[in-house]
Amino acid sequence: MHEPVKPTRILRIDPSNPRIDYLIEAARVIKYGGLVIFPTETVYGLGADAMNNLAVRKIFEAKGRPLDNPLIVHISDINQLNILSDNVKEEVYQLAEKFWPGPLTVVLYRSERVPYEVCAGLETVAVRMPAHPVALKLIELSGTPIAAPSANPAGKPSPTSGEHVKRDMMGRVDVIIDSGETLYGVESTIIDITRDPPLLLRPGALPIEEIEKTIKKKIVIPEFARGLIEASEAIAPGMKYRHYAPSKPLQVIESSDYSNLERYSLGVFKHVKRLMDNGLKVVLLASSETTQYYHEVEILSLGSRKNLFEVARNLYKALRKIDELDIDIAVSEGFEEKGLGLTIMNRLRKASGYNIIRI
Ligand code: AMP
Ligand code: MG
Repeated sequence: MHEPVKPTRILRIDPSNPRIDYLIEAARVIKYGGLVIFPTETVYGLGADAMNNLAVRKIFEAKGRPLDNPLIVHISDINQLNILSDNVKEEVYQLAEKFWPGPLTVVLYRSERVPYEVCAGLETVAVRMPAHPVALKLIELSGTPIAAPSANPAGKPSPTSGEHVKRDMMGRVDVIIDSGETLYGVESTIIDITRDPPLLLRPGALPIEEIEKTIKKKIVIPEFARGLIEASEAIAPGMKYRHYAPSKPLQVIESSDYSNLERYSLGVFKHVKRLMDNGLKVVLLASSETTQYYHEVEILSLGSRKNLFEVARNLYKALRKIDELDIDIAVSEGFEEKGLGLTIMNRLRKASGYNIIRI
């Protein structure tokens, strides 16, 4: 990654009352080929003019992102789909009608106009319309779709607050828009709609069960979308890289059955105890339902199993916290892979570098 050199301008924009002068300033930076970090309802994005290949290339430099990992193009108006893709399928409009603006990304065949860099040389482009007033206004004022991956250095957990982006990206971009904490705290759900039935590329903030209800089709869930194996390059480029990872070791303790939480936590605690008996300092990422079963170990609470929205929202904060604590190893509980549970398990398994223990 390049050394920080740019003077970064920080614009604090209140999402409930966005300052238009600040947004005009940020939009001008996009128009002239610069980099702007902006909030979305999922995580912060690192944006550039999607139609300007030189601007897009700067995103990869700022993040230290491998060039074969494509970006998501953010639009503010459904008509922009026609700039990015020719012959958009009816199913896409059906999904857009129901979920946009919102945390759903669709992968479509790309038009010739989309720069090579955005799609990392693929025949397809990933698109979504974010549900955040600041993001939408920024795209609209820029007058162009904005290509943006998450605004973290490659491999690290995605930023869910202005504090995270300032800490990670100062000096690497022209503008950081700080609008506080993001709503979902986890990235969008990505489906490849060029396939029939559609293929899940990444579970995210929108549970796939909701998408299935709308298109009245079962979505195919490959093993890599569950975070169990790395994706092959051809299907989901970029997903082969280690992601979301704290720098300290993390283990995930999974069960095929979470219905008896007392029994499950006993198993988790036995494992944690063994680590502690070996002289390791451990932090345990646990749900609020099970903390009562653990003693003498530091706990990071992820929230309630009955509210997976909360667990997903707390996840990246917890992964970042691991690096700040005086511990040797982190251990996390697992969650049932239903609804947002699929998303949570994908991130935990990948963050652990597939260090999964089954009990
Ligand atoms: P990020 O939101 O930072 O994870 O970056 C965008 C994600 O979208 C990456 O995981 C990419 O692999 C994925 N993506 C972007 N474009 C495509 C595409 N054309 N096909 C498959 N995946 C894509
Ligand atoms: Mg990312």
